[in-house]
Amino acid sequence: MQLIDGKKVSGDILSEIAEEVEKLKASGKKIPHLAAILVGNDGGSETYVSSKIKACEKVGFKSTLLRFPEYVTEEKLLQAVADLNNNREVDGFIVQLPLPRQINEQKVIESILPAKDVDGFHPINVGRMVLNLPCYVSATPYGIVQLLEKYNISTSGKHCVVIGRSHIVGSPMSILMAKNTLLGNCTVTLCHSKTLDLKSHTLRADILICALGSPEFVTADMVKEGAIVVDVGTTRVASTETKSGFKLKGDVKFNEVAPKCSFITPVPGGVGPMTIASLLKNTLLAAKREIYPA
Ligand code: NAP
Repeated sequence: MQLIDGKKVSGDILSEIAEEVEKLKASGKKIPHLAAILVGNDGGSETYVSSKIKACEKVGFKSTLLRFPEYVTEEKLLQAVADLNNNREVDGFIVQLPLPRQINEQKVIESILPAKDVDGFHPINVGRMVLNLPCYVSATPYGIVQLLEKYNISTSGKHCVVIGRSHIVGSPMSILMAKNTLLGNCTVTLCHSKTLDLKSHTLRADILICALGSPEFVTADMVKEGAIVVDVGTTRVASTETKSGFKLKGDVKFNEVAPKCSFITPVPGGVGPMTIASLLKNTLLAAKREIYPA
């Protein structure tokens, strides 16, 4: 079994981005600038956004954090998005999800200029991804693809089973794995909460991507010998072992599943850091106007 070290791979990607930033600086060009909108005080969202801001500092990007209270109106949030769309200083921005109930999440996503939508959630970017056109690929699926690439995992002809069909992870992941591209060409099965006899599907997976958000749901009896397992799940569970009072649990029961795998991602230190590195890669593309030329 080989551990897929997302921390190491993401560290390498961040170093490459930092080198590019140095080159931009040296040639007098603008430094990439990522902005983030954070609503409320949800602990998970706070942690994710602060990791993204820290990563920006690490690579030399400029970053801006716009905070709004939990009770912010949809109108006010849409105005903030419009301001960022029009702000020539900002190359790309994200709206940290989930948003409070009074706000229509989809409306907010669709109000982001596709050229600045570095999370890749806007229907235009999703559609372009499906059609194999240049776009921002949603950061988590993009991170997973890069991990498989870095570990020279061949995917062609393999059976990939994805558990979870969310718009931000499972669905785009299933599309990417089925594409007629170097990293793709899998036969894909997409499973969800209404899938009957889930185990019969997971047992046929050469590559199993778990993105359901249910801690330690995938057990050894659900996994084929020699499978490649990617654990996307990150659920905060209470813990007396950590200072913060919680720890992150993946969707896979790591200790019993790992010995059966050829490759497996840990939680933490697998997909999570790659998501941030991919977001920064998208921001660099946005700053260079490579996807949507100005
Ligand atoms: P989500 O929107 O809640 O979607 C979960 C999906 O899993 C749904 O499609 C749901 O099916 C399916 N599902 C739930 N229980 C199931 C079961 N028992 N059997 C089969 N399918 C089941 O979640 P998400 O946003 O995709 O996130 C999934 C996990 O990944 C979460 O733990 C999240 O924190 C984590 N995540 C991590 C990163 C990272 O950077 N590491 C990034 C994003 C998300 P239905 O569609 O039928 O409801």
